[in-house]
Amino acid sequence: MKIAIASGKGGTGKTTVAVNLALSLQDAQLIDCDVEEPNCNLFLNRELDQLTEVSSMIPEIVEENCTYCKKCSDFCRFNAIATIPNKILTFPTLCHSCGGCIMVCPEGAIQEHEIVTGIIRKTSGDDKKSPELYEGLLDIGQTMASPVISELKKNIDPGKTSIIDAPPGTACPVLTTLEDVDYCILVTEPTPFGLHDLKLAVEVVRTLEIPHGIIINRSGSGDNSVEEFCMNENVEILMKIPHDTKIAQLYSEGIPFVQEMGHWKEKFIQLYSSIQDRYSREIET
Ligand code: SF4
Ligand code: SF4
Repeated sequence: MKIAIASGKGGTGKTTVAVNLALSLQDAQLIDCDVEEPNCNLFLNRELDQLTEVSSMIPEIVEENCTYCKKCSDFCRFNAIATIPNKILTFPTLCHSCGGCIMVCPEGAIQEHEIVTGIIRKTSGDDKKSPELYEGLLDIGQTMASPVISELKKNIDPGKTSIIDAPPGTACPVLTTLEDVDYCILVTEPTPFGLHDLKLAVEVVRTLEIPHGIIINRSGSGDNSVEEFCMNENVEILMKIPHDTKIAQLYSEGIPFVQEMGHWKEKFIQLYSSIQDRYSREIET
């Protein structure tokens, strides 16, 4: 079963939930898709080995063949090529590697050039502890997170439970992460800002028709607006993690709280069971 942990924005405790849930389960995989800033391993502190590099093909102009006809720049809807009088410019970080400019160039003046955009790492082969951690890491200066996420997700083992830590926000990298997941936990805070971002996130999972529920982090610290929204919109609140000094202290020390507060492990196991039951019922109907 593939369970994604997402939130409308960063800093809500999404990674905390992903790590603590994965640590509570037997033989789970933890897939860190927040490739611009993967930080699950800040809590797990495991040895990681590089599995593979992720590369993309970008255009390279053969200037002596170019007639500056502009067909390539007119075609590119990502503005990754610009034609100015007697000069053509490329912006590799904007390129989506669609190959269209090469096809439309009548002079054969564009070649493909491979660049590395990120890497995939996993827990070292000697480390048999659960969860098995996989993370993607986008190279500094690169902006195309989705190819790294797609490559990372190829490591998901369908025979295991995968906990997938999604990037913050609701843009393309989140959609790539949520593709094909069985269930999505949305983590939020009980504040008007939390509610604003939660609404966007709920809209995304509803559009993608992914079963979902909410975890309220730092519960008791804000107002009731998130709970009212969930009640009105018929969105299930799966768990509330209280605004608790001990949890905050462990977080600041990079210690997953299920390791020091054993009763929370039970709560996460129950959470997983209830998600699994609901998922099985949905598959049957
Ligand atoms: S389409 Fe080809 S020939 Fe025309 S401007 Fe682009 S690279 Fe040059
Ligand atoms: S490969 Fe596609 S995205 Fe990249 S520059 Fe060419 S047309 Fe634009």
